[in-house]
Amino acid sequence: MKLLVVEDEGKIGEYLRQGLTEAGFVVDLAQNGLDGHHLAMTEAYDLIILDVMLPDIDGWRIIQSIRQAGKEVPVLFLTARDSVEDRVKGLELGADDYLTKPFAFSELLARVRSLLRRGGAPTPMDRLQVADLTLDLSRRRATRAGARINLTAKEFALLELLIRRQGEVLPRSLIASQVWDMNFDSDTNVIDVAIRRLRAKMDEGFDIKLIHTVRGMGYVLEVDRCD
Ligand code: CA
Repeated sequence: MKLLVVEDEGKIGEYLRQGLTEAGFVVDLAQNGLDGHHLAMTEAYDLIILDVMLPDIDGWRIIQSIRQAGKEVPVLFLTARDSVEDRVKGLELGADDYLTKPFAFSELLARVRSLLRRGGAPTPMDRLQVADLTLDLSRRRATRAGARINLTAKEFALLELLIRRQGEVLPRSLIASQVWDMNFDSDTNVIDVAIRRLRAKMDEGFDIKLIHTVRGMGYVLEVDRCD
């Protein structure tokens, strides 16, 4: 899942980026309204966290642009003033939720996850399930046939992407942009290495293999597939 954070206060921006990255998200950080506006309008995000008070283009105008462009991405706005007018204004302009500064990171994370669920995730609950594999999104845990699988944050994000788009062959370039936040460079084998590790952890020793290589195309997670 890819998030955009628009926050001009350096410390808060870095704090959010670090915390959300540790929670398994891919995070773009924009430190002014212009960059934030540009990224929001040109890149695909699962959610945007938007500070309202920005020195150039303020958060209100960014929300307006996003909604006028017909983008339905969930927007959580951050406001320094706990004023009713601000909250009403943000929600009227098309934001989905807000937080008043200062806030606890745990609360921000809870709001983010709740908005992502509302935003059309395939299941209303906090878990994804394929065959005997379960991904508990709030506790960041993976289990297969009831046994815990220890995954790194990247492996978890990779598995989450494969499950959310199961049956779909995902090219390396898409995996690179969604999980590593990088442009795919065919010289690197980082994705193949990560897939190999993930398979060793979750497919080895099981009759049903879930992750499959589609030669020349990419990877797919599928229950009934013969390689
Ligand atoms: Ca600010």
